[in-house]
Amino acid sequence: MSDDLNETGPIVVVGAGIVGVCCALYLLRDGHQVTLLDRGAPGEGTSFGNGSIITEEAVVPVQTPGIARKVPGMLMDPLGPLAIRWRYLPKLAPWLLQFVRASSPDRVEEVSIALQALLSGARTAYDPLVGMGGLQDMIQRSGWLSVYETEAGFQSYEPLLELQRRRGVEFDVLPAEELRQLEPSLAPIFERGVFYPNVSHTVDNFRFVQELATTFARSGGQIRRERVVGFDQVEGSVTAVLTEAGRVDCRAVVIAAGAWSKNLTAMLGSRPPLDTERGYHLTLPHPGVSPRLPIYSTERGFVCTPLEQGLRIAGTVELGGLNAAPNWRRAEVLYENANRWFPGLDRREETRWMGFRPSMPDSLPVIGPAPHHKNALFAFGHGHCGLSLAARTGALIAALVEGRDPGVDMAPYRADRF
Ligand SMILES: Cc1cc2nc3c(=O)[nH]c(=O)nc-3n(C[C@H](O)[C@H](O)[C@H](O)COP(=O)(O)OP(=O)(O)OC[C@H]3O[C@@H](n4cnc5c(N)ncnc54)[C@H](O)[C@@H]3O)c2cc1C
Repeated sequence: MSDDLNETGPIVVVGAGIVGVCCALYLLRDGHQVTLLDRGAPGEGTSFGNGSIITEEAVVPVQTPGIARKVPGMLMDPLGPLAIRWRYLPKLAPWLLQFVRASSPDRVEEVSIALQALLSGARTAYDPLVGMGGLQDMIQRSGWLSVYETEAGFQSYEPLLELQRRRGVEFDVLPAEELRQLEPSLAPIFERGVFYPNVSHTVDNFRFVQELATTFARSGGQIRRERVVGFDQVEGSVTAVLTEAGRVDCRAVVIAAGAWSKNLTAMLGSRPPLDTERGYHLTLPHPGVSPRLPIYSTERGFVCTPLEQGLRIAGTVELGGLNAAPNWRRAEVLYENANRWFPGLDRREETRWMGFRPSMPDSLPVIGPAPHHKNALFAFGHGHCGLSLAARTGALIAALVEGRDPGVDMAPYRADRF
C-alpha cells in the first residue's frame, strides 16, 4: 500500500479504543505521522469495561455447530447467557442468517484456523507497545480457569475442547478436587475445571488503553477529540477526514471505530455485516474474596477477573443493537451467578456497565484494505477478542501500510468476504 498513500498529511486512525490505539502506536513506530480521532476520550467505548483477558486460546467461534437449534431459546429467555431482543429481530435477521450459516462444522473448522493465525502471538504483539510505555506490570500471565457445574455441561463442551486440541491449545482438565486446590476461594459446586496456562490479563483494561494512548501522545502522536462525520474522496482515494470541528487532510485512513464502524464504512461504499453483541459488567471494589486468577463459566457465559480496582464480573451476549436501553436485570444475573461461586460477595460501591462488542457473524474481525479505496484500511469486528487481538491487529495494519509481508494469509479477514 505504501505507493498508494497521499503525499501529505498524517495517517488518521478513527477510533481510540484498544484496537485504534494499538494501530496508531504501531504506525507511529514505523515513523509515520499519525492522528488519532475519537468523539470521546481514549478507551471510553467498549474497551472501557471488558473482562481484561488477553487470550491466545480463543479458537472456538461464538457460532458453534448446532447453534441454530438454540435460537428459539435465545428469543424466549431475555436473561439467558445468549439472548436476542425481539424488537431487534427484523434488523438482526441478515446477520443472524450469516451467523447460523457460519456454524456448519466445516466453516467452524476454517474459522478456528483463521482465529488461531491471529491469536498466536497476540500477547507478544503487545511487547513493543508496553515496552514503549514501561507498562510491563500491567499484564499478568496468570492462566485462566474454565469451570463446569455439571458433568453434562462439561461433556457437552467436549467437542469444542477437541477443536482446541486440534489447534494445539494447551490445557489441563481438572477433577473437582484439583480444581479446589488450584482456586480455594471457589464454592465446592463444580464437577470439572479446565486450566489454560497461556492466558494473561491486564490489571485494569481501561487504564491500560489510557496508558497506551498517553504513550502514543508522548511519542509524538496527535489525539483529537472529534466525531468523524464523513470523508473527502478523490478517484478512489480518501483525501481528508471530515469531523464536526473541521477537516483533517490525510495520507491514509484506518477505520477502527468498533461497533460503530459500519456507519463510517458505508460512507466509503462498503457494508460488511457488522452488528453488536452487547455485554454487561459489574465491578465490585470490596468483593471480600480474592481469586488468584480469572475464572470463566462456559455454561453461563461470564468471567470473574481480579483487577486492581476490585473484582470484575463480565460477560453474556445480548443481540439488541446499538440503540436499545440496557436491561440491567442481566447485570443482576451476573451478580447472582458470581455469588454462587463466592457466597456473600460484597456489593458495596459496585459499578455496572453495558458495552457493545463489535461482532461479525463468523466471529472473525475485518482487518485489511477497504474494498473501494486504495489508501483506506479497516480494523474492526473483533467481537469477544478485541483486547486480545488489538496489538496483533496494529502490527498487521502497519505491515499492510508499509507493504511488508504480514506473515499470515489475510483473505479470511477481508471486508468483502461475505
Ligand atoms: C462484557 C464484555 C467483556 C469482554 N471481555 C473481553 C476480554 O476479556 N478480552 C477480550 O479480548 N475482549 C473482551 N471483550 C471484547 C472487547 O472489549 C472488544 O472487542 C474491544 O473493546 C473492541 O475494541 P475497539 O477498539 O474495536 O472498539 P471500542 O473500544 O468500542 O472503540 C471504538 C471507538 O470508536 C469511537 N467512535 C465511534 N464512532 C466514531 C466517530 N464517528 N467518530 C469518532 N470516534 C468514533 C468510539 O467513541 C470508541 O472510542 C469484551 C466485551 C464485553 C462487552
